[in-house]
Amino acid sequence: MKKVVKFGGSSLANAEQFEKVGQIIRSEESRRYVVPSAPGKRFDNDTKVTDMLYQCYDAAAAGEDFGGLLNAIKERYYEIIRGLNLNLSLEEEFARIEADFKNQAGKEYAASRGEFLNGKVMAAYLGYEFVDAAAVIRFDKEGNFDGEKTDKLLGKRLAKCERAVIPGFYGAMEDGTVKTFSRGGSDVTGSLVAKAIRADVYENWTDVSGFLVTDPRIVENPVGIDTITYRELRELSYMGATVLHEDAIFPVRKEGIPINIRNTNCPEDKGTFIVESTCKKPKYVITGIAGKKGFCSINIEKSLMNSEIGFGRKILQVFEDEGISFEHVPSGIDTMTVYVHQDEFEEKEQQVIAGIHRAVQPDFVEMESDLALIAVVGRGMKSQRGTAGRIFSALAHANVNVKMIDQGSSELNIIIGVSNDEFERAVKAIYDIFVITQI
Ligand code: ASP
Repeated sequence: MKKVVKFGGSSLANAEQFEKVGQIIRSEESRRYVVPSAPGKRFDNDTKVTDMLYQCYDAAAAGEDFGGLLNAIKERYYEIIRGLNLNLSLEEEFARIEADFKNQAGKEYAASRGEFLNGKVMAAYLGYEFVDAAAVIRFDKEGNFDGEKTDKLLGKRLAKCERAVIPGFYGAMEDGTVKTFSRGGSDVTGSLVAKAIRADVYENWTDVSGFLVTDPRIVENPVGIDTITYRELRELSYMGATVLHEDAIFPVRKEGIPINIRNTNCPEDKGTFIVESTCKKPKYVITGIAGKKGFCSINIEKSLMNSEIGFGRKILQVFEDEGISFEHVPSGIDTMTVYVHQDEFEEKEQQVIAGIHRAVQPDFVEMESDLALIAVVGRGMKSQRGTAGRIFSALAHANVNVKMIDQGSSELNIIIGVSNDEFERAVKAIYDIFVITQI
């Protein structure tokens, strides 16, 4: 059995957290490949090392003195090294970083040092081999991630090590220029390593015990999700459920490798398994509820719209020309409504209206702002009658006015539009009817 274990910043914020991580790794022989993030926040108002590095590099790039900022970063690592009683010096590494900052080595290089240094500490602490991600995670000449090259390089390199630490978040182009993934990208590295070594499981250790059925800021102590499919997760994370970097799904999904989200602070919790498909029925018909505020709807009405070929395309073309992406397009016989993000739309509102008038000569165009979209997601909905009925009667009882309904033909989700100020009430009502009444 081979497992890749990735630890997020909060799991590695100080020596105490490192010790928990050490225990987790040592408790299972199969945890052979370790992907660390940079040290994260130790307490609420603390600063992540990655952010300290960005600040430090900004000062260096502006020609200001950055010695104090770099020393503060160094202290973060030495605090961990001392706490773990390690005999490890990072003086050489920091001298190199200082010189590279002076030579303007780039923001991405700067940010990547957080993981690079933490990888060094982790390798020394575990007695594992250190494999620099710059040598095995490849970006092409345009700076785009190169999956094929990476898979080959990683596979070949790791075949030679029984156990290794591979820092997360970065890689390099052929000429050695360091590139990073977007923020939170160590999740992606973990997934790439898991794919390359054909791991049995990719364990992603963080500070929560997996995915919750809904947002704990809306519902107090929501229940956890044991198993979720990749498709369900896509729907939920698109709508705001964030635990895992979006791009972390694709590499392992292709190989059918499950991801297990675990909690470093509660290692006995089984967490959430993210799988390609499963026979396991979700406990509550629905798998999760997620949502976002801040949408606008543009309702276009025209008599006999249904018989006008190309009507929809012409409308959507107007949005495309203005560079606005749409979320949902429910339609009726003589109406079509386009849901967009309010902040993307507001500034271009009048151009879009004018464009629609020119394109399709509508009878009228009506707009509504401050709307929220809620996604009720679940593979279990397909085989159950009455799910939609239960949702809407719960919303009616909670006095929520439903403005839009959209069920994808996959029957995996139902999207509901409500006004922003009824959003929380609506989520609670749906949670209550599917979870609370079933417990
Ligand atoms: N350290 C990086 C960040 O803060 C990457 C990561 O933690 O995954 O975004």
